[in-house]
Amino acid sequence: MTPEKHYAVAVDGPSGAGKSTLAKAIAEQLGILYVDTGAIYRTIGCAVQQRGIKPRDEDAVRALLPELDIAMRYESDGEQHMLLNGRDVTREIRLPEISMYASAVSALPAVRAYLLEMQRELARRHSVIMDGRDIGTVVLPDAEVKIFLTASAEVRAQRRCLELERRGTPKPYEEVLRELNERDYNDSHRAAAPLKAAPDAVIVDTSALNFDESREALLALIRERVQ
Ligand code: C5P
Repeated sequence: MTPEKHYAVAVDGPSGAGKSTLAKAIAEQLGILYVDTGAIYRTIGCAVQQRGIKPRDEDAVRALLPELDIAMRYESDGEQHMLLNGRDVTREIRLPEISMYASAVSALPAVRAYLLEMQRELARRHSVIMDGRDIGTVVLPDAEVKIFLTASAEVRAQRRCLELERRGTPKPYEEVLRELNERDYNDSHRAAAPLKAAPDAVIVDTSALNFDESREALLALIRERVQ
């Protein structure tokens, strides 16, 4: 691979598998762009909630899309900030109720079509590690590296609880596990771009791996394919 040619690493998997934390660290280490596509769906979820629109009402959500100005800005800390009509919603989109809104709006073909080009354009302009649910299957089917990152639902719920605690919005484990299972079900059973591993993706189960071990496993896969 010539140095100036961009490459793409697609990381898909269920929520709480560690995709964003790992992808962000890897982007920093390799000097490539990290794109958190869940944050973009969350931003739409946030807009829908603010307008009091039912997130499964495709006509109402479709009508809202042209009014939205969704932008991403990368801060010096490497954090991907999300702007909704000029307002920074980076923290808001992490509120637990927005997760359910994001999951519901992401099942709408109108929303997926609206975001497809935005995601592809980022990968045309930069070498990226992009995480989501359909990156290897739909958004970047020609990605040089495809990883399907997973872990047991119980391990993912424990991790999510820790993350919510750190953010100052703790929730009981049982509730987190129930919502996570619900979201997994929605994400994998929807007709539009359901969560599934691409046939050429490498499946990495992080249930028994700590952060460093997971990162090393992913870096080894990337180096094997692009360096
Ligand atoms: O990754 P995160 O949990 O932040 O994503 C929020 C929601 O957005 C997911 O539950 C999923 O429904 C949706 N999503 C998606 N496709 C992506 C990224 C996220 O459908 N590429």
